Formats: sequence, structure tokens, C-alpha cells
Amino acid sequence: MTTLKPLSGCVAEYDPNALPVEAAQEIVRQWAMPRGTERAERVGLFDALNRVLADDVVSPIDVPAFDNSAMDGYAFAGAALASARGTVELSVAGASLAGQPFTGQPNAGQCVRIMTGALMPPGCDTVVPQELVIREGDVIRFAAHAVRIGQNRRLSGEDLARGKPALRAGRIVRASDLGLLASLGIAEVAVRKRLVVAFFSTGDELRSVGEPLAPGTLYDSNRYTLFAMLRRLGVETVDLGIVRDDRASLEKALRQATEAADVVISSGGVSVGDADFTRELMSSLGDVAFWKIAMRPGRPLAFGRLWSGPRAGTGTSALFFGLPGNPVAVMATFYFIVREALLAMSGATRQAPTAIRATCAEAIKKRPGRTEFQRGIAAREESGQWRVVTTGPQGSGVLSSMSEANCFIVLEHERADTGIGDEVDIVPFDGLI
Ligand code: AMP
Ligand code: MG
Repeated sequence: MTTLKPLSGCVAEYDPNALPVEAAQEIVRQWAMPRGTERAERVGLFDALNRVLADDVVSPIDVPAFDNSAMDGYAFAGAALASARGTVELSVAGASLAGQPFTGQPNAGQCVRIMTGALMPPGCDTVVPQELVIREGDVIRFAAHAVRIGQNRRLSGEDLARGKPALRAGRIVRASDLGLLASLGIAEVAVRKRLVVAFFSTGDELRSVGEPLAPGTLYDSNRYTLFAMLRRLGVETVDLGIVRDDRASLEKALRQATEAADVVISSGGVSVGDADFTRELMSSLGDVAFWKIAMRPGRPLAFGRLWSGPRAGTGTSALFFGLPGNPVAVMATFYFIVREALLAMSGATRQAPTAIRATCAEAIKKRPGRTEFQRGIAAREESGQWRVVTTGPQGSGVLSSMSEANCFIVLEHERADTGIGDEVDIVPFDGLI
């Protein structure tokens, strides 16, 4: 630790060797090239959910495929509006229902009862909504100013024109996209092969759920949060369990993981006490990009490339993230350092997590010289402004703070203490998780 004068002018302590978060993100971005982009497969729609599109999807048809009504009402030729003096009077020639079109040709004094989505009868271009109409027997009357020519009609190709790209390559297929693909009559799409991510926990103190807890031991929770976060990203997971804190076990796990996966994620074993040992191993198995980030939680974080062969540069390679052991640090580093890399390697188009401005309803202590991701509870006030408080103690082992929170409060590198009423960025979990 060195004492440096930060920009604010007050004296603060920080480690000049710890990389600012943005710099770490930039390095990760440069190293995280799409893997196996040539490996596409065709899948049915239900299996396409959360997968990355390998090609643009071009619409084979116009959507909607025919002009149709946007309302329940009466379809007629809009010219009738111009000739009417005050009130329009038309006689009902028939009905056009969804799936049962009206086949006749209404004349100038006629209209057709029409339901939402039903085919516009020939010659009709306007729909008057039923609630604006008085009907007596087969005659309807309505005020001429109630509707304008062309209103309440959906034109064919209005949503999507035939031959135009409906969805772009690189898009992650979401619920609306599945519906869209189905609406185009597309039964299968080409998606990228899933990225394979192997993960394990390190620590002699860790026990798996189901085992008894001896004094000084604790349950391994990181494998579960990692599993869940990875699943949410749609990658294929390889669970390598708990690895003991010794060189031979760690080396074996790293080699096995590198062979099995495109990306290897471990937790624990990178803080000061263990760092040398992991560092030595990493430099024999691959290249290290960085070890420490000016980030809280999550300061110790190893990032680099591993090789499965006898020496670095031989065999197959995988990107490696050695996350800290503390459970909250695992989640914060995953979201702000790892997540984007996994998406990029999966071939997905880059999408930064959504940040919104919120007012602090509580004072927050913060040292300049590192980015902090505090757990927050945000709520929207009637004015539309977001207000945020922290979940309380911000220890990086307090996993309950993540369950309690609904957002990260992002306190930037140079920022010092935050007062009540100050503005901060928050990243809602809903947009992230
Ligand atoms: P380490 O980075 O290995 O020094 O671990 C830091 C702290 O996180 C220690 O208190 C560990 O017991 C705890 N920890 C490490 N791995 C896990 C895990 N998989 N699940 C829960 N806690 C963990
Ligand atoms: Mg450990």
C-alpha cells in the first residue's frame, strides 16, 4: 500500500498496482474474442430461447400478411366521410370476422361489420369503432368527424416487410423474439454453439451441501451462485466441484477445465495468502493479464489464458477468471468483469447493463481510488425520481445483502463520500440478472 494524493486533494491510501475497473474491463474485452463462431447449429423455436442467432433472420412474408382492422367496428370506403354532411349513414352489408372474411364487394352506401384482426373487405380503407356508432337494425350512423380516412386499419407489411431483416445475427433470443419468429412461420433458426464454461471452488474449509459441518468449515455457496449466473447467460456449464488448496490438485483441476471448456472460472485462492501459489501455477500454465483490480468487493482477481498442454502455448486454450472467495465478491466480479466477456465469446452483440440515476437517501462512505459496487435497495418516488439506500453492512461475505438488494450502487473510482441527496448510478438487478 502506498500513500498517494488523489485528485480530490485529500490524502487517501490506495494500491497503485491495482487496475482501475474500466482498464480491467477493457483488457477483458480485448481478450474475449468470439469462440467457435463457425460452429452454428439449427434448432427448433423452443430450443432457441436464450441462444445467440448465428445469422440475420430475413422475413419470408409480410406481417401482417393482409390489410386488417385494428378495432371492433365497421369498415367502409373513407370517401363516404367527404360527402357526408355532419352524420354518416351506412347500411350493413355483412360481417368480416377473424378467419372468416367478407367476400362481397360493399358499395358506396354500405359498410361491413368487422372485428379486430379481420381482413378489410375490398374497397374499404377505414374503420369506425363500434362505440362511436349508433346502430338500428342494419343501419349505422356516426358523426363524420369521429374518424379520418384510413384510420383504424393496419396495412399489410406494416410490422415487418418481406425480405427485410427481422432479427440480427448476434441477438440473444428472448420471449418476444420467439413469438416474432413464429409469426413469420419460421420453425428453425441457426444459433451459435453454446460457450462451455467450467467452474470450481477452492478451499480446504469448504464442504458440499449434504455433508456435516466440522468446526472451522463452511458450505460452498459460490458454486451455486456461479451455476445460476452462468445458466442465466445460456452457456453450457461444467461443474468441477471443490478443489483442495494444494498445488497438485489445483493444477489438475485447471488442466482438466481448460481441456473441457472455453472459459474456466474458479473462486477463492487469489487473495494475498494464496496468490503466490496460484500465480506460480498460472505462469507455468498460461499468460496472466492482471491480478488485482481497484474494486470493492473483488480486489483480488486473476485474469489470463490457460493452456492444456505441457507448456503455455501448447494444447487447447481457455480464458481464466480466478475470482475472489468471498461470496458477494464472486457475484460483483461476475457481473462487472466476467459477464460481458462470456457474452462476447458467445457471439452476442454487446449490451452494457442499464444504469439509472438515483438520489441517495443515506450518506455512504467511500474512499477515492477504487470503484465500489454496494448493494442497494432502490424505489421510485411519485415524482419519477429513483431513491436508493444501502442494504446496511457491506462486508463481502454477507450474501444475504445480495438477496435483500434490488440493485448495485456504483460508486466510481474517483468518488469520495456521498451525502444525502447526492446522485449516484444504480444498476438494477432485473436488467442484469
Ligand atoms: P479466499 O479468497 O480463498 O481467501 O476466500 C475468502 C473468503 O471467502 C474466506 O472466508 C472463505 O472461507 C470464503 N469462501 C471461499 N470460497 C467460498 C465458497 N466457495 N463458498 C463460500 N465461501 C467461500
Ligand atoms: Mg481460500
